[in-house]
Amino acid sequence: MLAGISADLAIQASYFVTAVLFIMGLKRMSSPVTARSGILWAGAGMLVATLITFLYPGMSNYGLMLPAMLVGAVLAWWSGKRVAMTNIPQMIALYNGMGGGAAAAIAAVELYRGGTEGYASTTLAVAGGIIGAVSFSGSAIAFGKLQGLITRSIRFRGQQFLNLLLLAVALVLGALVAAHFNTSLGVVTGFFVLALVLGLTMTLPIGGADMPVVISLYNALTGLAVALEGFVLNNAAMIIAGTVVGSAGTLLTQLMAKAMNRSLGNVLFSGFGDTGGAATGEVGGSLKPIEASDAGVMMAFAQKVIVVPGYGMAVAQAQHKVWELSQLLIDRGVQLRFAIHPVAGRMPGHMNVLLAEAGVPYDLISDLDEINAEFETADVALIIGANDVVNPVARTDKSSPIYGMPILNADKAKNVIVIKRGQGAGFSGIENALFYLDNTRMLYGDAQKAAAELIQAIKAVG
Ligand code: NDP
Repeated sequence: MLAGISADLAIQASYFVTAVLFIMGLKRMSSPVTARSGILWAGAGMLVATLITFLYPGMSNYGLMLPAMLVGAVLAWWSGKRVAMTNIPQMIALYNGMGGGAAAAIAAVELYRGGTEGYASTTLAVAGGIIGAVSFSGSAIAFGKLQGLITRSIRFRGQQFLNLLLLAVALVLGALVAAHFNTSLGVVTGFFVLALVLGLTMTLPIGGADMPVVISLYNALTGLAVALEGFVLNNAAMIIAGTVVGSAGTLLTQLMAKAMNRSLGNVLFSGFGDTGGAATGEVGGSLKPIEASDAGVMMAFAQKVIVVPGYGMAVAQAQHKVWELSQLLIDRGVQLRFAIHPVAGRMPGHMNVLLAEAGVPYDLISDLDEINAEFETADVALIIGANDVVNPVARTDKSSPIYGMPILNADKAKNVIVIKRGQGAGFSGIENALFYLDNTRMLYGDAQKAAAELIQAIKAVG
């Protein structure tokens, strides 16, 4: 009896410690300086929660649990070590899908047992089951799209009606199970199959480049599913972790949609960014190329240079060369800053992570609100593989898909140098008025190669 009470106390106390570690970890992730340690804190929380589970009274099946955990840990370690920075979004999609799948699997076990618990418990299991299953199959499609395994967005007439129908039938089956009206194998299986199909049909039409927002949304849903199943299992750690993930995911989804000035409905239903790479839209003026040697001289004699990195810098993995170039300028006495747009690249914090990897000090990096007023006093704005985040039509053209999106005011700099390979569109697929301005020069080439040429040019200045 006493042993039982002390085991229960130890379990509850360690779940409290877990909750504190999760919350502290999340807090530390809010600054680049403490983010790495934040990951470790949250990881420690997960370790405590996992280990303490072994103390659960009546716990058995160690022969299945331990090998499964070992396989999972080895695969996660191996893939985490190997993954390229640009492939992080699809890795998150994969892990997130697993979380949703695990929550759905818990629901399945509970529901196949025949709903012997009370109505509240089966209702929670059904709710967590449908959300987790949608998140699982939806995240799998998101992974496929980002990995380039699925290249087309499948759309057809009546698609949203089909999704609504699938949802309605799945909910009816779920209600039958939750009310203990019909808990047969067929009904429970039908419920899960429909939920999985719904995840597929909901995600297939969404444009590949919108996947990071979708992943963030599924992340929030996975958290919710885990929390709901935590209530079913009466497990405080699952409830807390699920709630934290659910609310963080919801906030991130909102922030991403807001930074793009788009509603979540627009992200989910518009097929935005599926233009096949060619820029569309009318912009007056001409594109004026510049040689690296001339651009190097212009920057070497500048007083103030603002560097704007974008998706192209990530693709080219040019961050190290860009930092080398920046150091040369700083050594010459140029006042240099990096300007980061909240949705530059293809995932939140994409540019911050790349610049940190290259060793750029945090105090040289400014976000949109801090830096925007400074472009007017900059001699050169150096745009490296960025496009949409510096497109001035967002301010002026009400018919533009990016109208209203806050942009970096690079066009206000005295001179603008744009590094990109050719006339490829940005994520939104539209022409960029900045490239055609009188004070803009295009330095064509891969970002890494162009940065290397600029380094040579600046060194040649002496
Ligand atoms: P963009 O996608 O607008 O533009 C990237 C540009 O980089 C292209 O025009 C391309 O032109 C150029 N490029 C590609 N490869 C290279 C290379 N190897 N070397 C040099 N240039 C290259 O990028 P931004 O960062 O400006 O904007 C991000 C966009 O992504 C925004 O529209 C945002 O809304 C969206 N988005 C962002 C998310 C996030 O969380 N950060 C999530 C989802 C969407 P070219 O082919 O001519 O070289």
